[in-house]
Amino acid sequence: MKCGGCTLCCKTTNIVYMDSPHGEYCKYCIPNEGCMIYPDRPDHCKVFQCCWSQMKKVHIDLRPDQCKVVFEKINDALILGTIDNKLENISQLVKNQIGAFNKEGISIFLQQFNPYKFICNMIYGANKQEIINALEEKANDCSKLY
Ligand code: SF4
Ligand code: SF4
Repeated sequence: MKCGGCTLCCKTTNIVYMDSPHGEYCKYCIPNEGCMIYPDRPDHCKVFQCCWSQMKKVHIDLRPDQCKVVFEKINDALILGTIDNKLENISQLVKNQIGAFNKEGISIFLQQFNPYKFICNMIYGANKQEIINALEEKANDCSKLY
């Protein structure tokens, strides 16, 4: 993986698994450096890859710590975007990327923290029930790792 100095998913995405306060970095994270328990990190952390880390040609400004949004593929038709920012402050670059995903037929569900709790800030594409079903399925898959 090419995370570089990004550690944002250790704040936004794995938090429910790490017994850390909501919206704070995992207790094992050194922000912008890495994981203190890297060889022994939980399976969820081992398998997690945000969209940025999987995209071949993508702007560095879209790296999650730079653009303040972690995009995570839920299934072929849905991406969850977790915002580490105020919704009104998301950048034009992020909005353009959301538009690009939509053009590929992928819906976006934007939320602030609270993974899988269905706090809906904005939906582009799929309807709410489809999103809830997809997130529940994903949460069930994740829970099988524990
Ligand atoms: S959010 Fe993406 S780029 Fe950042 S640390 Fe996590 S997987 Fe790596
Ligand atoms: S255990 Fe490590 S990789 Fe997992 S959320 Fe915490 S700091 Fe990140």
